[in-house]
Amino acid sequence: CGVVGIFAHPEAANLAYLGLYALQHRGQEAAGIVSSDGEKFHNHRGMGRVADVFKADDIVRLLGNRAIGHVRYSTTGGSVLRNTQPLHIKYRHGSLALAHNGNLVNAKELREELEHAGSIFHTDMDTEVILHLVARTEGKDAGERLATALTRTKGAYSLVALTETRLIGVRDPLGFRPLVLGRLDSGGYVLASETCALDLIGAEFVRDIAAGEMVIISEGGIESRFPFAPTQRRMCVFEYIYFARPDSTLDGINVYQARKRIGRELARLFPRDADVVVPVPDSGVAAAMGYAEATGIPFELGLIRNHYVGRTFIQPAQSVRDFGVKVKLNPMPSVLKGKRVVLVDDSIVRGTTSAKIVNLVRDAGAREVHFLVSSPPTTGPCHYGINTPDRSQLIAAQHTEEEVRKLINADSLGYISIEALYQAMGGREAGYCDACFSGDYPIFQDHGMSARQ
Ligand code: 5GP
Ligand code: SF4
Ligand code: MG
Repeated sequence: CGVVGIFAHPEAANLAYLGLYALQHRGQEAAGIVSSDGEKFHNHRGMGRVADVFKADDIVRLLGNRAIGHVRYSTTGGSVLRNTQPLHIKYRHGSLALAHNGNLVNAKELREELEHAGSIFHTDMDTEVILHLVARTEGKDAGERLATALTRTKGAYSLVALTETRLIGVRDPLGFRPLVLGRLDSGGYVLASETCALDLIGAEFVRDIAAGEMVIISEGGIESRFPFAPTQRRMCVFEYIYFARPDSTLDGINVYQARKRIGRELARLFPRDADVVVPVPDSGVAAAMGYAEATGIPFELGLIRNHYVGRTFIQPAQSVRDFGVKVKLNPMPSVLKGKRVVLVDDSIVRGTTSAKIVNLVRDAGAREVHFLVSSPPTTGPCHYGINTPDRSQLIAAQHTEEEVRKLINADSLGYISIEALYQAMGGREAGYCDACFSGDYPIFQDHGMSARQ
């Protein structure tokens, strides 16, 4: 998911809308904005992409000089209108709206506990659990109540919250998902999942919200709190490999440059006698450029993407996914015919897309196809907000590397190693989550997951 928050700008809802536009890659199932005029909250939410959900009239109705917004990519809860964000409640301390990126691993047990105590849930989302916890919590202000509620949760959350008087941003103690702070020309502030949202609305980047930090923005300025027990940061490394936009800089590392460095590492690990380096667009482009630069093999666009088709994996139905590959990528015989091709992609998840792409490239006349992957083998699910399937569906969890090579019909296959990945990331000392590749899960699932399942 992607989140955005705007504070103290006369066109708050419009800026939130633009911010969501820039964060569209983080979720395409649903979008929503809640604004506040200081007294009343206004909301508009819907299924689909930002451009489909909001018409000009809808934005005009979102009154007030502060707003929060959300684009949804479901990890918990079905893809239905009820499960759209931001969620917005009235409780004994006033109004509270919340937009959440991440996934709580103990949402199920908390929900059961709350339901036993009489809570009635309107959605299937773990985000609603946070609101119920807040409503039951005492505290001197909304920030304190939110922090106390969050200490009961386990998992990943980058949140933006809106009260009558404040915009609050929180990043969970491990900092799985990014969250950045920017300054608007109005003197107001913006919170967003990625810096690309700041760029679009002309905001100046101030800083990343730190893992475990809560920022409370009010008319009085910005207050920073660290309400949780300190722990080692574990930012999702897959944000850099795939999920975030290349033009974003997160926790000091530019995503595009990181991907290029991963490509150079791939060149070091897997030099190939080849005629062209071809990315699987868009996710493989930067790594393929790094590989081409390091090897001197020409970079060519041998697969052209139809940009009007969403990221296939975000759409839940398997039938759509299969169709998606063909509708999305067209191979270019003028680039591929008779060539030894190095094909670069970010990840192999189920292997179905990768197999189809290799065969598309072969059908277009490629003599050899060498498949290089800018992530290590995906061998486990993600419990922290990326929709990676369980082990039974992960090709690298079910098969050896040689079997995967055969299944996707490649002449050779190479995955970046975890060591080389961190070489490209400037070292692992900053603290990353790589659980879906390494099995080293920083937080356990509530139903008895073991560290190396
Ligand atoms: P596959 O070969 O696993 O079917 O598809 C691999 C490609 O699709 C990669 O480019 C990857 O980014 C994307 N992809 C497909 N499904 C998923 C998924 O469930 N989770 C993630 N993280 N990426 C996926
Ligand atoms: Fe990211 Fe993988 Fe960790 Fe999930 S398990 S947070 S996708 S590195
Ligand atoms: Mg891809």
